[in-house]
Amino acid sequence: MHFSRIHRIHIAPAALAALAVAMVALAADPASGPTKIEPRWNIFSEQDDIEIGKKSAVEAEKKLKLINDPTVVGYVREIGGRLVAKAHGPSFPYTFKVVDDKSLNAFALPGGPVYLNRGVLENARNDGEVAGVLAHEISHAVLRHGTANASKASVAQTGLGVLGGLLGSLGRTKSYAGLITQAGGFGLNMAFLKYSRDAETEADVNGAQILARAGFNPEDMVGFFETLDKVTKADHSKTANFLSNHPTPDRRIERIRQEAALLHVKPMRTQMTAGLAPVQTALGQKPAAGATTGTGTLASATKEPPPPPAPPVQAAAPLKVTVAPPAQDMKTYASATGAYRVDYPSNWTVLEGGKTGTTIAPASGTPDVGGHPEVVYGAIVNVYSNFGNDAAKKEKDEDEADTGSASEQLDEAFQDLRAQVLSASPYLTKVKGSGRAFRAEDRRRRGFIFTGTNPRTGIAEQVTIVARQIKDGRIIYFLFVSPQSEADAYDATLKAMMGSLKGPGQKG
Ligand code: ZN
Repeated sequence: MHFSRIHRIHIAPAALAALAVAMVALAADPASGPTKIEPRWNIFSEQDDIEIGKKSAVEAEKKLKLINDPTVVGYVREIGGRLVAKAHGPSFPYTFKVVDDKSLNAFALPGGPVYLNRGVLENARNDGEVAGVLAHEISHAVLRHGTANASKASVAQTGLGVLGGLLGSLGRTKSYAGLITQAGGFGLNMAFLKYSRDAETEADVNGAQILARAGFNPEDMVGFFETLDKVTKADHSKTANFLSNHPTPDRRIERIRQEAALLHVKPMRTQMTAGLAPVQTALGQKPAAGATTGTGTLASATKEPPPPPAPPVQAAAPLKVTVAPPAQDMKTYASATGAYRVDYPSNWTVLEGGKTGTTIAPASGTPDVGGHPEVVYGAIVNVYSNFGNDAAKKEKDEDEADTGSASEQLDEAFQDLRAQVLSASPYLTKVKGSGRAFRAEDRRRRGFIFTGTNPRTGIAEQVTIVARQIKDGRIIYFLFVSPQSEADAYDATLKAMMGSLKGPGQKG
């Protein structure tokens, strides 16, 4: 229940590197079969998704006019049920409701509530087109895109500590409730429901896979795009929301057809209309609907996740933080999942964050500032998972220009990590040329040194970020923080920890 099946997919190590490149860009890779979608970094549990979705549904339904006609709702539930049975992923309590809105759209809340607009049912030509829309929406829930967005936004508020699983004195519930409130609260205005283009592509690809498994066809989604095109020509107001700022259907169709080929399904559209006809008759007897929904839909993708909350006020004076010097002798920490081991000074403490990472720090090295821990002295270690930073945020610079034969997967991951660190700590700037040494010493490693004054603590800090690909193909990241004034004194500790990072089965 706690881990989705997607998280647990075992991939043969040999295939991993090639596969992961495909996952990062979500390009179709004929050598690897159907595309495996990498779970995004998410600080919420699957149970959190369910609770957030339930609360959001209550708020959303205060604003939505629902259609309760049993013919209409029964039809959508039946198709939705068929898809959910083949959805894989977390066991979410999916529900399907019909909104009295003429525009062609749909949306899903985290953890399972799915809403389909009347306009889709009125214009769909067969069961397959309805299934295509629902499969896409179910996929947003399966892939946990809403809470992944919220997780990303949280980094801007809570600093680097969240990467190491540190949640602070407010505790999990209050910290996260605050994040939801900042993203517009529960309900339809949740900024979390505006997805990046990459997330939309993932929902299309995952949706194509669900359709194929459930006895529909990826081509059914393409059929819906044709309907959309036809309706747009007749009445643009019904599709404007769908088409605004969204990947063009042409590009989406191409990717869906690539996925169908990987799934080895022939492009045969579902022609069944026996269930849809009485639904359309029933809807035809109801008064015409307006367009009411405007956000968080199949359609309204934004280029970027919601803007981060305003940064906290500048600390008046640097926070006084005093820690004992790092001990010379080291201990070894092995992560609970066995993913990595790292040495650390014997007088430091391991603060475990479960799936969300590990922080290893001296006593008093991670003071609480405004309810959130700030890592003033310490290291954060975790297995890399996709933060979902758009390509635009991951631009390379001169330090990375000559990566040559090095792993593309590692480069992608490191750029994503760096973008994530900078969204957590926008005050950091890179020490020019600092990337070269990391790569020169170890071709499976990328790194940078950043410096800047943390506005929450007033302390000028130095942050070293490192990503290292271990033998099984996974990428471990390592962040090391100390005040800039003591960076030289901590250099030996940094090097000893960084050099000790090992994957499962490695000796030493
Ligand atoms: Zn979507």
